[in-house]
Amino acid sequence: MRLIFLGPPGAGKGTQAARIVAKHGIPQLSTGDMLRAAVAAQTPIGVKAKAVMYAGGLVSDEIVIGIVADRIEEPDCKKGFILDGFPRTLAQAEALDVMLASKHLELDTVLELKVDQSKLVDRIVKRAEEAKAAGQPVRKDDDPEVFKTRLEAYNRDTAVVSPYYAARGQVIEIDGMQSVDDVTAAIEKALAG
Ligand code: AMP
Repeated sequence: MRLIFLGPPGAGKGTQAARIVAKHGIPQLSTGDMLRAAVAAQTPIGVKAKAVMYAGGLVSDEIVIGIVADRIEEPDCKKGFILDGFPRTLAQAEALDVMLASKHLELDTVLELKVDQSKLVDRIVKRAEEAKAAGQPVRKDDDPEVFKTRLEAYNRDTAVVSPYYAARGQVIEIDGMQSVDDVTAAIEKALAG
């Protein structure tokens, strides 16, 4: 099963993708997680990406496409994968098409989490508070001001990705404002159906 998760930052893509991993045994390819790991390890990619990530902007297509191209070559991706946070631009979506076509692979489904953007800042503030209370590191970009920049980047560069797949009839919309469990149930129903 090869899936893409679309939706603005804070929509719950990461949370839901982790549940699909647990249930279906396919890896979650989160470009955000991969880039954060590169920043923490101070790799050349991490060094390049750090400032733009902390400011809430998008890392260059070239870097992100390269990371994903390498990652889907790994043996655990043979049975499928969930892309979380990629593609985020039309250029990334087109590059993914080329990558998949060269491997004679197809996407199964694009799940789009639909949310009320006016509620997202509250969600992100809560996510930061919960991480702090649990003694976990708080994401530097889970700050209300940076978050607004991330949302702007989504509306400017990423919102066009959904129509790209919708034109091929591949998008299933999920109401992301339900409880986490209800969103999971809606996703499982969509995947079964
Ligand atoms: P995320 O964890 O998906 O919210 O991503 C965190 C940050 O990593 C984003 O705000 C971007 O700076 C960067 N990033 C993650 N995925 C991508 C992508 N596909 N294209 C460009 N930048 C990305």
